[in-house]
Amino acid sequence: MVLILKAVENIPLIQKGDDLAELVCENTEISDNDIVVIASTVVSKMIGLTFYEKDMIPTFEAKRIAQLNGKSPEFVQAVLDESTGVLTETPFMLVRNKNGHICINAGIDGSNVGGEKLLKLPQNPDKYAAEIGKNIEEKTGKKISVIITDTNGRAFKNGQTNVAVGLYNIKPIKKWIGEKDLYGKVLEISEEAVADEIAGAANLIMGEGCYGCPIVIVSGLDFYTAEKTSIGEMYRDEKDDLIVQSLLSAKEKKEKKDDIKVRIYRDGEAIDVNCFFDEKDNMYKEMSFYKFEGVNFED
Ligand code: GDP
Ligand code: MN
Ligand code: MN
Repeated sequence: MVLILKAVENIPLIQKGDDLAELVCENTEISDNDIVVIASTVVSKMIGLTFYEKDMIPTFEAKRIAQLNGKSPEFVQAVLDESTGVLTETPFMLVRNKNGHICINAGIDGSNVGGEKLLKLPQNPDKYAAEIGKNIEEKTGKKISVIITDTNGRAFKNGQTNVAVGLYNIKPIKKWIGEKDLYGKVLEISEEAVADEIAGAANLIMGEGCYGCPIVIVSGLDFYTAEKTSIGEMYRDEKDDLIVQSLLSAKEKKEKKDDIKVRIYRDGEAIDVNCFFDEKDNMYKEMSFYKFEGVNFED
């Protein structure tokens, strides 16, 4: 077997409205079963997802988190706007974005964007993978797959790798269950995350810096499917995810610890009361009073 990774040359700095499919077809030869791997950075630029941090208006929640992790409240607000859940607030924000993908800062990134601009991830990357893929298929008459990627850190190991965040015409996970190993033993649990592996391989020639190589054609694999597939197939259910569950419970414990003791004087007597921060009313409230009588200690 031979696997070929080919950079698409002559890609300009992508602007809003550019036609990535056209750029692929103009600058490279496409064959049946090719996988077109595209860095999310240029997909986001094509859609026009650049923004300025200074234009964000931080809520109280963004200010609170910014105090913990040292980022600007405006940046934290941008991350919160793209997130459906926050797994860690400090030392960095690990969040689930609106598409179900868990990553640092919701994938908001300032590299390869220019000036002070920031770039968000597309909220529905499968849709853009399909749009670009169908365009390439129409122009070339070939059957192809598309993977949109982003560079992510991962648990347990140093170093980042490219991963799939959106796809078209490829099943992201190859099931080996039921197949035999070298000695005839039937495999029971092996599932290979091929979309991430292809993304990682393509990044060997994309790089992270100034190569100017956001699109790589992968030839030699037989992963094409006309079946409807979705990147969602790669995201584990939150309730079955041990790591997500432990991060959430650690966060909950930490929040409990953040409660404070306040010394107040009641009828001339000093007493220490446990207080918690009520985000809705934006103030500390005495726990017992709040719980039992529904009044806050400032009353
Ligand atoms: P990400 O992993 O999707 O966040 O993208 P990166 O910022 O790591 O960039 C991946 C590759 O795309 C690198 O080779 C960059 O130099 C290249 N790249 C990013 N934006 C552009 C662009 O607008 N035009 C070109 N030609 N290359 C770009
Ligand atoms: Mn990125
Ligand atoms: Mn990258």
